[in-house]
Amino acid sequence: MADRQVSMDKIVNLCKARGIIFPGSDIYGGMGNTWDYGPVGVEMKNNIKRAWWKRFVQESTNSFGVDAAILMNPKVWEASGHTTSFADPQMDCKECKSRHRADNLIEAHSKGTVNPDLMTNEQMEAYIAEHHVCCPRCGNFNWTPIRQFNLMFSTSRGVTEDNRNVIYLRPETAQGEFVNFQNVQRTMRAKIPFGIAQIGKAFRNEITPGNFIFRTIEFEQMEHQWFCKEGTDVEYYEEFKKKAWKFLTDLGFDESHLRFKDHDKLAHYAKCACDIQYLFPMGWSELNGIHNRTDYDLSRHQEYSGKTMIYNDPITNEKYIPYVVEYSIGADRLMLAVLSEAYEEEELEGGDTRVVMHFHPAVAAYKAAVLPLQKNLADKAKEIYAELSKRFMITYDDAGSIGKRYRRQDEIGTPFSVTIDFDTLEDNTVTVRDRDTMAQIRISVDKLADYINERIAFN
Ligand code: ATP
Repeated sequence: MADRQVSMDKIVNLCKARGIIFPGSDIYGGMGNTWDYGPVGVEMKNNIKRAWWKRFVQESTNSFGVDAAILMNPKVWEASGHTTSFADPQMDCKECKSRHRADNLIEAHSKGTVNPDLMTNEQMEAYIAEHHVCCPRCGNFNWTPIRQFNLMFSTSRGVTEDNRNVIYLRPETAQGEFVNFQNVQRTMRAKIPFGIAQIGKAFRNEITPGNFIFRTIEFEQMEHQWFCKEGTDVEYYEEFKKKAWKFLTDLGFDESHLRFKDHDKLAHYAKCACDIQYLFPMGWSELNGIHNRTDYDLSRHQEYSGKTMIYNDPITNEKYIPYVVEYSIGADRLMLAVLSEAYEEEELEGGDTRVVMHFHPAVAAYKAAVLPLQKNLADKAKEIYAELSKRFMITYDDAGSIGKRYRRQDEIGTPFSVTIDFDTLEDNTVTVRDRDTMAQIRISVDKLADYINERIAFN
């Protein structure tokens, strides 16, 4: 359904023009790779988060949510390994001073045929020299050696700035779930297997952010850790791959735009790991990850905190540190995928084109637009708006021709447009126009809310 010719520029321009996403600190000329969600975008992102939470927490009998602090005890990052190894291989161009990731340079130069994840820093440097990989910005070949660049943002706590007070903005939400493993297990009387989920901000000082909201330095993650017994982990890993895939297809993604990609090089803690990639406007890229993290995280937290992470099985009396299967997806990256997937430039009879966003109705910012055909129908239209907005996010538009108003709603993906005309005053009926088919039906105002409600659920 979606036009695969959609470019990033079209998405960025539409987002800016229609109140979806603006450049951050816009009036000051922006602040590199930060973005602000506007009135339409904030509704959409909240709806995406709601759909995810519904699927992975609400509809699961044994998954529990948390909302942990962004600032955590620095020992957490020692235990997790982030302090020493959460780093990317950075190379600077000595000519134009631009900064690059060595692995990305190799991937781009080899058009994906060489996998830099399998290389050491020395091997990457050798490849770049041998193939004379030039700076993509200025075209020169004058690189610094590779340096490992830690991606964590640090700040200091308290009134004096010294090394003892350094704390970090969390680079992932996962650790907030691990450190609360015992708290959640005890208070919820949870039995293995069970899950802990969280949605929240994470921060990474990315060397090469870009591609709009694909890679930013501040973003939201939706993460779900599934605690299970060793031996069952492989089965649950497969189960979460299926669940992650189904979540996306239920949101309306075309299967031909999604694919699994196994990691060739595993993180030191992982037993197996894969991504689901999406065909973004700039090409296939990671949308989410599924990782079998073994008992690494809980064991490390036990070691560093001195607190036990052992689970006592109340039925078998076995005692063990659970394995973890993680499913992690960026809310902003999913938003970009949703925008890309929904975009269509449709040619209409008569030579006109319309831009229409075919969002799943559950994701759309507004479930319906209330449009009085003429301004003197405002009283009735506002009455209908007031009733509908008790149940859904509704928008109201009385400016311009009805055709232009429909187009505005198509561009932000509003699934239904409700037109109030003079017959409405006589017989209490309205015209409901469907965004995708543009078909119109006449229905009674009394049935309107239920009509909309039946068509917007995410199940
Ligand atoms: P990448 O390889 O793209 O840097 P990653 O493998 O480091 O991603 P994870 O640490 O597994 O990513 O994070 C889980 C998810 O969080 C990713 O699949 C992605 O959706 C999202 N994510 C990670 N980094 C960013 C970022 N800088 N901006 C936006 N979303 C991100």
